Amino acid sequence: AVSTDDLVAWIRAFRDAVQQHKDELTRLDSEIGDADHGSNMARGLDAVVAKLDPAPATPAELFKTVGMTLVSSVGGASGPLYGTFFLRMGPALASDHADAAALGAALRAGVDGVVARGKAELGDKTMIDALAPALDAWDTAVTDGADPAGAARAAAEAAARGRDATEPLVARKGRASYLGERSAGHLDPGATSATLLLEALRDTLA
Ligand code: ADP
Ligand code: MG
Ligand code: MG
Repeated sequence: AVSTDDLVAWIRAFRDAVQQHKDELTRLDSEIGDADHGSNMARGLDAVVAKLDPAPATPAELFKTVGMTLVSSVGGASGPLYGTFFLRMGPALASDHADAAALGAALRAGVDGVVARGKAELGDKTMIDALAPALDAWDTAVTDGADPAGAARAAAEAAARGRDATEPLVARKGRASYLGERSAGHLDPGATSATLLLEALRDTLA
């Protein structure tokens, strides 16, 4: 089962991954946006990690802190969207010992929140192109009897495929959509950071 400590470790691992890929995320955003996705996410997650000591006692407390901190410390589209993701996850995860199905349901609640807030559909060249297939893969893995580690492996793989599939797409949401056809031929920065989120979960639960 997945404990609160595991979830705290996941958030820390996501911060570390974003720090490692900060320049890459910003370079991707410089191609189709305003060159701040890496710095936005790094700043927000540094503020989050600063609030994890002492560690929150429950998933609800953890994700409320993560979500509120991202919303308040990240300007731009990604702050409110990732913030909403975590704010929706908390109430959906009642148990401190979540199994794969329960964690999948909470992740699904988070993704549904991003869709409700940002109105992006699959293929709009956003973080949803990584998150939605990841959750579908998670659910399929759970149906096939996977444990949390196995479900996270399947989800991370699907997220990476979804991220890669954003390259030829024309953006229909966010700043990249201002470029119209010229947004094609570049990976979406938010789909790239969302893949880091799922890969961090995979690595934490492994
Ligand atoms: P900004 O574009 O405001 O500078 P960021 O650069 O931090 O914010 O984040 C850009 C990313 O946000 C995009 O690559 C895309 O994945 C995501 N994004 C933008 N608008 C939306 C939306 N409406 N729904 C989902 N994701 C979105
Ligand atoms: Mg940007
Ligand atoms: Mg910006």
